[in-house]
Amino acid sequence: MGLFDKLKKTFTNVSEKISFDRLTEGLAKTRDSIVGKLRSALFAGRKIDQQLLDEIEEILITSDVGVTATTHIIARISERVRRDAVENAEEILSMLKEEIATMMAASPSAEADRTFSLSKGELPHVIMVVGVNGVGKTTTIGKLAHNYRQAGHSVLIGAADTFRAAANEQLEVWATRAGVDIVQQQQGADPAAVAFDTLKAAVSRNTDVVIIDTAGRLHNKLGLMQELEKISRVMKKVQPSAPHDIFLVLDATTGQNALQQAREFTKVAPITGIVLTKLDGTAKGGAVLAIAHAMNIPVRYIGVGEQIGDLQPFDPAAYVEAMFEDHRTEVVDA
Ligand code: GDP
Ligand code: GDP
Ligand code: MG
Repeated sequence: MGLFDKLKKTFTNVSEKISFDRLTEGLAKTRDSIVGKLRSALFAGRKIDQQLLDEIEEILITSDVGVTATTHIIARISERVRRDAVENAEEILSMLKEEIATMMAASPSAEADRTFSLSKGELPHVIMVVGVNGVGKTTTIGKLAHNYRQAGHSVLIGAADTFRAAANEQLEVWATRAGVDIVQQQQGADPAAVAFDTLKAAVSRNTDVVIIDTAGRLHNKLGLMQELEKISRVMKKVQPSAPHDIFLVLDATTGQNALQQAREFTKVAPITGIVLTKLDGTAKGGAVLAIAHAMNIPVRYIGVGEQIGDLQPFDPAAYVEAMFEDHRTEVVDA
């Protein structure tokens, strides 16, 4: 291996280590709330009985994993305990880790998501970002734009949240940070018209990636559906295959509410991926499991802070590792 390749490999490992540490740090509260409790229940030598399974069930449900996902996990654990005649309660911890990792299916586009790479034929790659107010759409757009720029792609942002007064200025701040251009109109303009202008501009400039911000109000489902459909329809006039991705942004700190929003939004738009924000410092990281289990949509990215570098491609295995990471006791892998 040449020096350059060696250096590159070291840098990759270092940055992977840093982002894993960031995730581990972000999941500290989730770890304390779920895994801390599980560890106290699953001590060495404890007998595996119905009472123990009920306790695990209770811990998972009260940690925002949700009833359906919990029921699934408990059923799998009971089956394995019976089948393999497991006697030591401590072994259940590694079983839980495996079951949880299996439950969160990896996205088919995980590799492209990780490297922010694009398939040549479809350019500009158009990403529409949807979700209720305050979940972190605009912040996520800034982070995505930054990452695509870092990967060497040109990016244009469309400010189609024309509803909120300060939306344009906030998006401009993020566009400046990411070093990308933005297309906007005055407050109250037709969001579809902004999306149209953005795509037109992107095509004429040969831009690689277009990211469309949208307004987040959900008080009227029909209105929202019509608006999202209209934005898509108008963009198709410029590029028939657009939008290539519709990302639903969900705030992890809202727990079961995030799951409810996922249910509502999947009814009104063909969501291709979930971005779960604010995973730093929340105790509700268990909501990822509920969402992954209930929705047939992969979690594509996670937000682990308010800075431009705080977006990570979602890696189920790394997530479970970070969730179960324990500095106090040695984790014995099965
Ligand atoms: P929008 O209304 O959906 O566009 O949400 P914004 O992008 O304006 O974000 C709402 C708030 O959430 C802001 O204060 C952001 O700084 C904050 N936020 C967004 N993503 C994250 C994240 O991953 N972690 C943390 N801690 N805060 C975030
Ligand atoms: P409508 O508002 O329900 O009539 O929706 P349209 O499908 O006509 O498009 C919505 C907006 O997108 C319009 O107000 C235009 O600003 C923009 N738009 C759509 N198609 C075109 C087009 O062919 N040319 C231009 N310049 N703008 C378009
Ligand atoms: Mg916004």
